[in-house]
Amino acid sequence: MSLPQALLDSLSQVTGYQADSFIKTHELGDSPTSIRINPSKIDIPPAHLKIQDPVPWNNNGYYLSERPAFTFDPYFHAGTYYVQEASSMFLEYAVRQSIDLNNELRVLDLCAAPGGKSTLLASLLNSDSLLVSNEVIKSRANILVDNMSKWGLTNTYVTNNDPKDFSRIGGYFDLIVVDAPCSGSGLFRRDPEAVTEWSLDNVAMCSHRQQRILADVWDSLKEGGILLYSTCSYSEAENETIMDWILDNLSAKNIVLDKKDTTVLDQWGIIRTASAKHESIGYRFYPDQVKGEGFFLAAFQKIKADYQPFYQPRVKPQRTKSFKQEKNILTHWIDDLEDKMWFEKNENIYLINPEHEADLKVLQNNLYIKKAGILLGQMGAKDLIPEHELALSTSISTKVPVLDVSYEEAIAYLRKDDFVPDTPLRGWCGVAYEGHILGWGKALGNRFNNYYPKELRILSRLP
Ligand code: SAM
Repeated sequence: MSLPQALLDSLSQVTGYQADSFIKTHELGDSPTSIRINPSKIDIPPAHLKIQDPVPWNNNGYYLSERPAFTFDPYFHAGTYYVQEASSMFLEYAVRQSIDLNNELRVLDLCAAPGGKSTLLASLLNSDSLLVSNEVIKSRANILVDNMSKWGLTNTYVTNNDPKDFSRIGGYFDLIVVDAPCSGSGLFRRDPEAVTEWSLDNVAMCSHRQQRILADVWDSLKEGGILLYSTCSYSEAENETIMDWILDNLSAKNIVLDKKDTTVLDQWGIIRTASAKHESIGYRFYPDQVKGEGFFLAAFQKIKADYQPFYQPRVKPQRTKSFKQEKNILTHWIDDLEDKMWFEKNENIYLINPEHEADLKVLQNNLYIKKAGILLGQMGAKDLIPEHELALSTSISTKVPVLDVSYEEAIAYLRKDDFVPDTPLRGWCGVAYEGHILGWGKALGNRFNNYYPKELRILSRLP
């Protein structure tokens, strides 16, 4: 792969850049494959994936020695792991070093689609914490909903808003992640086509957009709250310049992530970089020096409250009496329903954590919510009509009948092909491969209705 000369020239003075090895790595073009497991669903990586080593800066990340056809892996569709580039898993290290995860946190992932950073954050937070994953582009917000649904947790919300909409909830979040849209040079090995779209003009445009996004979302961070800013660009204009812009324009201080152990990043090959004006510290990943793609991350803390505090509505305790019949029905579908809260909106029933009832009101009053907790389904005359999200949820009850299928049947199911399993089960059942539920089916004796969502079905043929 031949890299743009203007990019190489612009990097010549950048901290940590080593021209020869950088160019050679791109000529070779090999890019490591890595996954991050979903600890709410599995404890160790699936045995059939060829695990090489753990990703050193992430507790759930693993390199694979070869890239399988993930599309034909039922474990992938069951949400037991996410395919994520290793450098970007560094977010876990940054979160652990900058905030106490034992606290009940409100977290915003502002530029969240397709959901790599959000699924990572969801796995880090305790269940009393709340994650809002936002994506401004509508079509991409749908993919984000699918991936968060696969992750299966009740304390996650997806919104589809412009960053400036978040100024309505001043001081709401303890942690904001801005994984900003960027010129994308860090991913050239993955996406060689993107090389042709790269230009210095585009870098300048991205830099301005990054400043605007940060300015727009800043008010929603509380005093003392943490901002983690990242890009997959090598350009100073999108990294060090943005660090200086933050310190010039926002009431923030830089956080050094490796203060406690300054040797660990050297061992991992991560480069510490400092901005020209404020000597603010950030972290650079070069593919010739780490096992991963190009990445940049920097951390900041808000010093002074500079926002109108958000309005916290009072919520009336839920009337449970009139919902008794529904409650009896839901007990069949949900584990520990007593510890959860469910509500009905536009005939849909959702499951959330009771601690988040007031938060739900805040989000509903100010943002466009695409997904709140787990969408359970709709109440029919006698029973729930379950939604796909419930099948993938970690809250699904062990009382729900499960149909175990073979690998071939699992692929047929995921393709939405017709198949008639040999089963004595009747009615709704979770279709599971090796214990991991893929979606719903309805067994009717000599017929089996496949309820796998049409828009998610596998379209290609087995290689
Ligand atoms: N965080 C994601 C992940 O780990 O999977 C990747 C995010 S990608 C680097 C940047 C995202 O920002 C894209 O989904 C893009 O649609 C979104 N975006 C584009 N323009 C934006 C804007 N003006 N404000 C906020 N987000 C924007």
